[in-house]
Amino acid sequence: MQVQLERVLEQVLARNPGEREFHQAVTEVFESLGPVLERNPQYVDAAVLERLCEPERQIIFRVPWVDDAGQVRINRGFRVEFNSALGPFKGGLRFHPSVYLGIVKFLGFEQVFKNSLTGMPIGGAKGGSDFDPRGRSAGEVMRFCQSFMTELYRHIGEYTDVPAGDIGVGGREIGWLFGQYKRITNRYESGVITGKGVTWGGSLVRTEATGYGTVLFAERMLATRGLGLDGMRVVVSGSGNVAIHAIEKAQALGGHVVACSDSLGYVVDEAGIDLEVLRQVRDVERLPVEQYAARRSGAHYVPSARVWQVDAQVALPCATQNELDETDVKRLVESGLLAVAEGANMPTTPEAVALLQSAGVLYAPGKAANAGGVATSALEMQQNASRDAWSFEHTEERLAGIMARIHDSCAETAEEYGDPGNYVLGANIAGFTKVADAMLALGV
Ligand code: GLU
Repeated sequence: MQVQLERVLEQVLARNPGEREFHQAVTEVFESLGPVLERNPQYVDAAVLERLCEPERQIIFRVPWVDDAGQVRINRGFRVEFNSALGPFKGGLRFHPSVYLGIVKFLGFEQVFKNSLTGMPIGGAKGGSDFDPRGRSAGEVMRFCQSFMTELYRHIGEYTDVPAGDIGVGGREIGWLFGQYKRITNRYESGVITGKGVTWGGSLVRTEATGYGTVLFAERMLATRGLGLDGMRVVVSGSGNVAIHAIEKAQALGGHVVACSDSLGYVVDEAGIDLEVLRQVRDVERLPVEQYAARRSGAHYVPSARVWQVDAQVALPCATQNELDETDVKRLVESGLLAVAEGANMPTTPEAVALLQSAGVLYAPGKAANAGGVATSALEMQQNASRDAWSFEHTEERLAGIMARIHDSCAETAEEYGDPGNYVLGANIAGFTKVADAMLALGV
């Protein structure tokens, strides 16, 4: 089976040249699958792995828009509809200059497993553009979103493909995207996109869900060692939507969050991050995190450096891929790191993951730990389908139940496969099995 796996992996890598992040994501999953194929030769016979690594559909399109100076600009748009065995394609849109096909495919591939783990009826997809919203006026971003949707609308639908946000796409952008969809199609099809505002079809808790869910996962994982977040020293990377809500939930559970960051540097606040100030700076005024330190006495800013310089017992990477490397982990382990839970997608490099595991640090991969976001998107779809709106308490309770189930299914699967505490193995196998069985049932 190992030989079989290696052969398929080689083929997949050769078939998708230059897509470094996609290679990384596929390789990581394949490393877990040997024992599953051993027990289930039917997956091999039906070429499930080969099929799983080839997206069902990949769309690349031109996005023309006019900037404030009247100049025509061109960006590239992507939607990779990876797998729809479990439900309509589902996954976010990322607007960031680093976006190219390899990043969208890695995110789409991860999304297939993540969405499977939620236990909800959703397939996996991802999309986005190399558009850089930084420094752009609201008018420019709106025109970009409208142009993006002018092409995308023909590929999506509540039973086909349901986008949402990701880096660079928040509630404001979802509004502009949905507005354009509605305008073009003349349909108020709420279930076509998630992350909507609560007054027009959105779900309470969706904004908070990814960050909250990551912390709930961390708490349950710590509990397996008789620990909890109460009194723990926590460091969070990022200061966007996921980071802010991870900080909020970590603090609510008694964690002492001392640092967070953006792509330009990080802030340390030993008294504990003041969420009100952070929200004002990052969310309301959309300023760099440096401004937080300027407004809080006792806090300081470190430019051009990673937040992992700061000692932590619990590290929550909530920024972007490959932001936590071997050097960071080595330092953190030496200074008492106990747990890592990923709010971002694939933020830890493979070498760093190996180091965390050999050091006995609890480690929750993003496809399990940050699945609360997309799970709550599925709850939003449920509310849209039944034309209902649930209370905050009810929705949060559902989220907490889902995170507990994801945790337990990863933990139980790891145990079943003889490596208790290995959440990577547990997440990959549990996520894979459900999709693979559905693919078998649906035929070639
Ligand atoms: N972009 C988020 C993720 O990485 C959410 C996707 C969604 O809600 O569809 O899972």
